[in-house]
Amino acid sequence: MAEGKEEKHNIIIRLYGIVQSVGLRPFVERLARAHSITGAVRNSGGLLEIEARGTAPRLEAFYRDILEKKPKHALIVHSETHNAPHEDFNGFAIEKSSDAKGPVFLSPDICVCHDCVREMYDPKDARYRHPFISCMSCGPRYSIIEGAPYDRENTTMREFGMCPMCAREYADNGDRRFHAQTISCHECGPYLLFRDPEGKTYTREEAFGKAVEAVKGGGIIAVKGIGGYHLACSPYSEETVMRLREIKMRELKPFAVMFPDMESVKRHCEVSAREEALLESDARPIVLLEKGEESLAPAVCNKSRFVGAFLWYTPLQAMLLAECGPLVMTSANVSEDPIINDDEEMMKWSRRLDGILYNERKIAVRLDDSVVRSVAGKTQMIRRSRGYAPLPVLLPGTGIEGYGVFAAGGELKGSFCLASGRFAYPSQHLGDLGGLGNGSVYRETFERMKRIFRIEPRIAACDMHPGYESSLFARSLGLPLIEVQHHHAHIASVIAEHGLLKPVIGVAFDGTGYGEDGAVWGGEFLICECEAYRRAGHLKYVKFLGGDEGMRDAAKSALMYLIDCGSGNVTKDPRWPLISAAVENGVNTHDNSSMGRLFDAAAALLGACSYNRYEAECASALENLAHAALRRGIKPLQMRFDICEREGMLIADASPVIRALCENADAGAAALGFHRAAADMTVSMCERLRDKNGINDVALSGGVFQNTLLLEDTMEKLKEKGFAAYMNEAVPPNDAGICLGQAYIGLKKMEKRGTLGCA
Ligand code: ZN
Ligand code: FE
Repeated sequence: MAEGKEEKHNIIIRLYGIVQSVGLRPFVERLARAHSITGAVRNSGGLLEIEARGTAPRLEAFYRDILEKKPKHALIVHSETHNAPHEDFNGFAIEKSSDAKGPVFLSPDICVCHDCVREMYDPKDARYRHPFISCMSCGPRYSIIEGAPYDRENTTMREFGMCPMCAREYADNGDRRFHAQTISCHECGPYLLFRDPEGKTYTREEAFGKAVEAVKGGGIIAVKGIGGYHLACSPYSEETVMRLREIKMRELKPFAVMFPDMESVKRHCEVSAREEALLESDARPIVLLEKGEESLAPAVCNKSRFVGAFLWYTPLQAMLLAECGPLVMTSANVSEDPIINDDEEMMKWSRRLDGILYNERKIAVRLDDSVVRSVAGKTQMIRRSRGYAPLPVLLPGTGIEGYGVFAAGGELKGSFCLASGRFAYPSQHLGDLGGLGNGSVYRETFERMKRIFRIEPRIAACDMHPGYESSLFARSLGLPLIEVQHHHAHIASVIAEHGLLKPVIGVAFDGTGYGEDGAVWGGEFLICECEAYRRAGHLKYVKFLGGDEGMRDAAKSALMYLIDCGSGNVTKDPRWPLISAAVENGVNTHDNSSMGRLFDAAAALLGACSYNRYEAECASALENLAHAALRRGIKPLQMRFDICEREGMLIADASPVIRALCENADAGAAALGFHRAAADMTVSMCERLRDKNGINDVALSGGVFQNTLLLEDTMEKLKEKGFAAYMNEAVPPNDAGICLGQAYIGLKKMEKRGTLGCA
């Protein structure tokens, strides 16, 4: 066998994932030379293909080293090797990226790296104080991509010709900027521009100086970022922050604050080790942190007990915060409109602002900052956008290559999903589809993603709700349509991201979703397996009055609950006689099992908050009340749901809870007791369903699980009872995540039809 070891073989190695412009090709070339392997390496889309010739042990070591020592930002989703016919090579060649078939993977935007920051602050470096410094392992990615493969000519960097220095580094495979598509410097890259309110424009260091001056003088400026413009100002001036609220037409919803370093975050917020890691991760998301000692102007977060905190992620932001300290950094848009990414559009605001700091590199894809939190020892995605999009979710099962599914998503939290084969690509956060402008961004994004990811949908999936803009869009495509029940989609999103192939008990708690029976669902217990589900339990139906507009009125939700449990007469609400008469006569009423409405009702009954001026305001106020009680060591007020079974359906009745909330106990103790009761009820329902169905896996989803107190308590109690509990991590538990569930159900249904030959 000694000579056998010297015998050379040919193999092909295939790596799927983020394999472009992360330094893989030069890395593979260096490794090949080190292992005396000849051959070639090439990119095609999300596939890196290596032809290699060498002895068996060397090939083996080569393959192992590739997987173990790969560059930091190369993300391998799947890898495989195949034997290949004999072919001789002259050395080892890096071939040009080629257009591809198969799945496409593109890198999300990556925060500026340590090496680049070091160079940026080194007066001897050619890129000293270059606000757009980047390298092979950092810088904008998805936000500048106009087509695949990821090469400079397919990005908005195309417009900036390389200077001789950059061109040299770009071509040098020993350099940190070898094949770095975003390479630039003071000579050739984009440079800073500042437009003052009078329309006067400054450039480079002068532009930067003017921007700093404006912010330090208590001004509000627009700053062009990665996925769009931010509005920036000091978080310490109440007056300035109030002015920002006026400009944005955002009355109360908290603003995110960008901090210059971790010490500064820690002075203002409580930070755990997990949260620290999230803050410093490449995606640099906004992390929801409990308020700490040093305070910001009250108008920044208002009553929220959280600060949306993040660290700078572009070189420009690093420079700006080094001068100005922490800054409110909020998407430049009006209220819920799409984030502004266009210079001309931003300039229309110039009279209202104290300046606009920008550059001429175009933003191809609008991306808001992502929002996450650490809860139950896991990461919960609240808004998935910059830094995460467009990474796909690997779906369980095999999947049919080339059979695309378009899943339209929800309504208030617009986002859709394109899936093909084993990969599902959820779009970035697209805002309220009822809002002006978001609908067209949705359609634009659909066209772009279809083209870039080469997925031509053959079927569409959407919510059953007849009025969702997303459902109307799905219908307009003229494809075979699969309507997916809202809460089934929530649970399927957990099934898809965790690859749960066995049946699960799904617990979907949210504000509202269209039920199979035409009622408003939202406190649901489902038995789900693959693409099928059945409803096995729910919160007892309570009669509600009127349509969706009334849902913001928590006092009215409380009234509906009071009337339902015969305690309507305890209320001082002047609407009681009229509403109870309407309910009695069944005028304009509907059945409602929403957990979101029950949280609203509890908030109103305890005087925490009686009207949702923004989404989930009442539920957050209730959680704050309970959380404060917990911190003060107050014992929860005892209360519990009644659970009974009717015709095989488990019904959780909140009547005893509502009555307990009316007892005039300490509001904090009652709020805490309410949270505990909801978690206890959830676990009892799951236990009964386990007894009946022999299922031990539980999937939790729906916007109500953004309540950390409820989620942590429920997860813990489920584990105590021996359940395996799963929650959304890759996509949000709110309606932005349902597109993934819809896509999964769509693909599975298509797969079944395919094998049955009736597709
Ligand atoms: Zn870098
Ligand atoms: Fe929902």
